[in-house]
Amino acid sequence: MPNNLLALNWKMNKTPSEAQAWAAELSSALSPGEAELAVMAPAIMLPALAAGLPAGVAYGGQDVSQHESGAYTGEISAAMLRDVGAKYAIVGHSERREYHGETDAVVAAKARQAQAHGLTPIVCVGEGLEVRERGEHVQYTLAQLRGSLEGVGTDVVIAYEPVWAIGTGKTATAEDAEELAEAIRGALTEQYGEAAGTLRILYGGSVKPDNIASICAKPNVNGALVGGASLKVADVVGMNDAL
Ligand code: 13P
Repeated sequence: MPNNLLALNWKMNKTPSEAQAWAAELSSALSPGEAELAVMAPAIMLPALAAGLPAGVAYGGQDVSQHESGAYTGEISAAMLRDVGAKYAIVGHSERREYHGETDAVVAAKARQAQAHGLTPIVCVGEGLEVRERGEHVQYTLAQLRGSLEGVGTDVVIAYEPVWAIGTGKTATAEDAEELAEAIRGALTEQYGEAAGTLRILYGGSVKPDNIASICAKPNVNGALVGGASLKVADVVGMNDAL
């Protein structure tokens, strides 16, 4: 089984100076644990993190362009992320899908582009409240997963983030997380065969120091993608210690 990945998604928070201070605070507070830690910060902060994070803590982008380079104003390419030492790039976060109209095909293109430059994409999937209330969350999420992994190789992390649990304080139960993680593992096995057993499936949605351990104890959950609780060093240390 892979070790847990504690992936922090800062979203659009902090300034580069604050990122630098956060990295310094983390360096004095963190004791190395079992989990791998990775900070997904706005791209403009990655050089400050590269210089200031404790050894062994990875970092990455919150998005990446599906294009190689050229006339795409405002986009960040995979080559740019890689050049500043990024290891990961989140793709297909529900906020990108909702506010920027990203389809499964675009998400898959971004994931392929990330892999082409040696980044590991963290591909996000998950249903909204209406879908869950209709009881269609498994089939919906698996369809989204298959579309988002079209032509994507095995160097990939999946994050199951039910939209109704993001930033709402409503956490899925550990059983809810495992139900989807197990179904996702099944779909990954169809696509990748035996290699699917070593891939990480993360849960995301109101994860905090006091609920991370029970969720990540489930057999198919291999870590968490954390928003709100990723901003304070004390919470990050608490989650890291709990894994
Ligand atoms: P919260 O942890 O704030 O619910 O956010 C989850 C998320 O969207 C991480 O990508």
